[in-house]
Amino acid sequence: MAQKPKIRELLDESACAHNKNKKSACNAPTPGATTGGCAFEGAQISLFPYADAAHLVHGPMTCVGASWETRLTHTSRPGRDLTQMGFTTGISTNDVVFGGEEKLRQAIDYIVEHYAPEAVFVYSTCVTAMIGDDIDAVCRQAEQTHGIPMVPVHAPGFVGSKNLGSRLAGEAVLTHLIGTREPKNTTPFDINLIGEYNVTGDMWQYTPLLEELGIRVLSTLSGDGRVANIRTAHRANLNVLVCAKSLISLPRKMQERYDIPFISVSFYGKRDTNASILAIATALGNADLIERAKKLIAREEDKLDKKLAPYRKVFQGKKAVLNTGGNKSWSIASALQDLGFEVVATSVKKATEADKEKARATLGEKGILMTNPGQEQAKIIDEIGAHLLLAGGRSLFTAIKKRIAFADVNQEKKKSYGGYGGLLNLAEDLKNALQNPVFNNVARRAPWEK
Ligand code: SF4
Repeated sequence: MAQKPKIRELLDESACAHNKNKKSACNAPTPGATTGGCAFEGAQISLFPYADAAHLVHGPMTCVGASWETRLTHTSRPGRDLTQMGFTTGISTNDVVFGGEEKLRQAIDYIVEHYAPEAVFVYSTCVTAMIGDDIDAVCRQAEQTHGIPMVPVHAPGFVGSKNLGSRLAGEAVLTHLIGTREPKNTTPFDINLIGEYNVTGDMWQYTPLLEELGIRVLSTLSGDGRVANIRTAHRANLNVLVCAKSLISLPRKMQERYDIPFISVSFYGKRDTNASILAIATALGNADLIERAKKLIAREEDKLDKKLAPYRKVFQGKKAVLNTGGNKSWSIASALQDLGFEVVATSVKKATEADKEKARATLGEKGILMTNPGQEQAKIIDEIGAHLLLAGGRSLFTAIKKRIAFADVNQEKKKSYGGYGGLLNLAEDLKNALQNPVFNNVARRAPWEK
């Protein structure tokens, strides 16, 4: 019988280096933590790219809107994109009194009958967790009735942060999907991509290069993901954790359970993309593959440098402030440095301890790690004389007020900034932002107001 994940164990992840020398574990809930996205949101964001599955939110209908379709996660099978639908049981006060299990059962039946998903992810939320609905039992029963995986996801918002929610989503996949099916065939170079969500097609910037080297992506969690593939993930030769320390428990447990080694990589920027391709080839341990990877990297680097040369002239001497979350605190900073920017500050408010260490290493001793970017960024822009602010949409006002260029690099972004091709997209967008007169003019007073 499947067991609920133990939150305390998940908070104390042995694969996180800093846990060994800190009293408090990573991702521990702090008062007000859910104002930055609750655990349910984190879980749904992590699993949502499985577009051939239905994502059923067992809670009041306001929960489904918290993270539904907030990211532009692409799927290569648009005809089968069930994420266009927001499924919820829409729990009401009546259900709080009498329980919502029957409603959940009916919702699953309805979804299977009308949408024929490959699996149904059932998310508990604050209300349904507190009233004690047994979603495990409902899922078990529904799985027998319908013959497809029903995956209970125990990440109600109150247990903690978005990061913890991602980790709980990983637990759900490990418990209910991984290892439940055998792949048609295997190759010596099969990998799983963990924590790659294919936002704006980031993954497609580098997977063709991996394929060119003969490396096969057996499954993903969860960018452009298929339920049938993640069920076979236990047969991969390597787990590649892409920019997502919050999911580290999953590859660590897969190493223990299935003897699959794992590496952690980032595909933002030229240097990191180079290093990641080489790291994957090296971890797969084939001398010929490593040689071919080196040649491919040299070829791509050469092509990219030629295309970036005119942009670098525009970016010379320009200072940037970066206010984004988690791993992007250092990975986007590294990409900006590749383009010739000086990154003077980055936000580490939502970063793990490992991300903070990497951010420090990327920015150097003089770089500022902002723990309260909402208050700090405007002051830093003034003091350092920054030319560019890269952040989420809410910070646009700061850029306008300070009359400097702005670019949106959060998950709401519209273009891919991953891999070599993405760095070119980023260069083009930043050049346009820096040369756009609107930022300098829009906050100016009208002549008659002077
Ligand atoms: S799960 Fe809880 S914290 Fe998250 S959106 Fe629903 S009610 Fe809010």
